[in-house]
Amino acid sequence: MKITYYGTAASEGFPGLFCSCEPCEKARAKGGKNLRTRSQALIDDTLLIDFPADTYMHVLNFGLDLRKIKTLLITHSHDDHLYPKDFEYRRYGFAYFDVDVKDLIPITVYSSEKSSKSIVEIIDKLELEKNNSFTWKQAKAFSSFTVGEYKITPLEADHDIRTEPLIYMIENKKEGKAILYAHDTGRFKDSTWDYIEKSGVRFDFVSLDCTAIIKDYEGNHMGIAGGEAVRKRLIKIGAADEKTKFCLNHFSHNGLLIHDELVEVAAEKDFLVSYDGAVYEF
Ligand SMILES: [Zn+2]
Ligand SMILES: [Zn+2]
Ligand SMILES: [Zn+2]
Repeated sequence: MKITYYGTAASEGFPGLFCSCEPCEKARAKGGKNLRTRSQALIDDTLLIDFPADTYMHVLNFGLDLRKIKTLLITHSHDDHLYPKDFEYRRYGFAYFDVDVKDLIPITVYSSEKSSKSIVEIIDKLELEKNNSFTWKQAKAFSSFTVGEYKITPLEADHDIRTEPLIYMIENKKEGKAILYAHDTGRFKDSTWDYIEKSGVRFDFVSLDCTAIIKDYEGNHMGIAGGEAVRKRLIKIGAADEKTKFCLNHFSHNGLLIHDELVEVAAEKDFLVSYDGAVYEF
């Protein structure tokens, strides 16, 4: 399997849109991997996770090809993860296709019920389902569904409960591989721990929320300390082992370290660090 990270910042971006703090100034000056856009990732060129306003930038700068995407998994409706207004541009006239509109395969958007409002509204208002642009399906925590060769299981995130946030466990049945994509979340809910343990899954790759970096928050998000605690527990219950790759992702300037500084700290603790455009195979 493969994961491509397109956007690796927390909601304000890194550097923050309007921010003059020291880490943001440093990131601007150094550029490159220190510049992070809002949250988006792709599994195996097939399953797109989240759709921020920065999606267009990911198309331009990192070769994200939305014409190949048929499945979109939404973690939650915070706007650094979901900007459905751009769905409009998959309508005929704004977009032309290599098949007739009647034969077009709609992009299926999966989200929790509570994160679906803006998605369903735009699909209804612009008749996106009728013209085969987009369709919405409910993703329920602990209720697996199949897309092609993938078994996808949404789990409960420890994050803003108003959005009914989800993290995703994705298993490629053909390859016998599995990834856990855990953004945005604190150190997981008991319900999620129970599910992972009972499922008997063994992850090959785990992407962990690291919004707070060297600081740490209790709940809602994690830092490096949270990542270490989650890794330890995943190994303890047999859901990960020494071969599992752990990658930190979704960073805020409030966590103080820019990418170049963080990679050194993370390497000592055996964590990969995501950056915009990073690709990892496992
Ligand atoms: Zn976020
Ligand atoms: Zn800042
Ligand atoms: Zn969030």
